[in-house]
Amino acid sequence: MDLKATHSSTILTDRTHACNSRLCLPPIVSPISPTASAYPSSTLYPTFQRRKASSGMLNESHDGACLDAMKSSSPPHIKLNKDFISDLAICKNDAAYDAWMMKCPSALSSFKQITNHAKYKKIVLFLDYDGTLSHIVDNPEHAFMSNAMRTAVKNVAKYFSTAIVSGRSCHKVYKFVKLGELYYAGSHGMDIMGPVIKNESISDLPGCTISIEEQGNEVILFQPAKEFLLMINEVQSFLKEVTKDIEGVIVESNKFCVSVHYRLVDEKDWPKVVHCVHHVLKDYPHLQVTHGRRVLEVRPIIDWNKGKAVEFLLEYLGLRTSDDVLPIYVGDDRTDEDAFKILREGKCGYGILVTSVPKQTNAVFSLRDPTEVKKFLKLLVKWKKLETS
Ligand SMILES: [Mg+2]
Repeated sequence: MDLKATHSSTILTDRTHACNSRLCLPPIVSPISPTASAYPSSTLYPTFQRRKASSGMLNESHDGACLDAMKSSSPPHIKLNKDFISDLAICKNDAAYDAWMMKCPSALSSFKQITNHAKYKKIVLFLDYDGTLSHIVDNPEHAFMSNAMRTAVKNVAKYFSTAIVSGRSCHKVYKFVKLGELYYAGSHGMDIMGPVIKNESISDLPGCTISIEEQGNEVILFQPAKEFLLMINEVQSFLKEVTKDIEGVIVESNKFCVSVHYRLVDEKDWPKVVHCVHHVLKDYPHLQVTHGRRVLEVRPIIDWNKGKAVEFLLEYLGLRTSDDVLPIYVGDDRTDEDAFKILREGKCGYGILVTSVPKQTNAVFSLRDPTEVKKFLKLLVKWKKLETS
């Protein structure tokens, strides 16, 4: 089965249409009148989750818990200098990292183990973007991917079905990656699009539609939170307004979620950021806040995440129940843990955490930074070439 497409752009127009009668289902989720019973029983598809506590939970203690999470998800950068104390701190960190690597070894040094397991299997690659393919930068608009990394991704996608899974919207992450042959799962998996598999029916995938991108090519589209779009846009406007006086805050629209970046905010102002976000969200019980690397993500409360997006894409590719598939997911974020967990618990693939500091994780292997990710992708290509020669 040829999983590759030949079109070069996946920028969508509004000419969406349902691709067959199976898709005439109720809305996937509705913020107005959620009816979970309307959905298929398959765990693949999102169901509405009611917030367990009332908006009263958004009080000072909740702010405090949120602040603690912000600090724990934002490890300080180690500044290299010749000061003895800093050198000592680096040694200690290296020792801790080396000890942690015993539990989560490098995917580079474990490459033979990975490829031994991959023999006679179809590898499907899932790659996070920020912090995985691009370095984390102060301004999220400047998180550009190097040409060398783009080439590495392009080459690996020639041999393995490859998807980018990101918190950013599909449109935004596509503008960074610029590779039309890939699948994209933006907005933490709530905004999925990619090449249409020729001669394959998508009739078993409720909610999946076919759309036409700018250059006239067909793409699949799956947006399980589309009923939240207006609400998310409204919240984004409020968040911009209430945080406008906090220096360094960047409120970024990612279609089905809003990212409130505090990377450039002085730590003494973090409580203000938390308070503003909770102040706005107290009127939106169907939205929640999750934590990324120096970012608060406002997103719909639906049973959908990056792990579900991985399952969806495997199903779309006709590989979800296959014994000869090996999904590999590479990511650096807490939100990537949902995907790591699914692969670990299903014993069906490998999660690879990108980190230079020890972290609790469901990943099996690790890579230190995007440079090592690029090296890993190149090794995969080299191995596949040798295997097929
Ligand atoms: Mg990331």
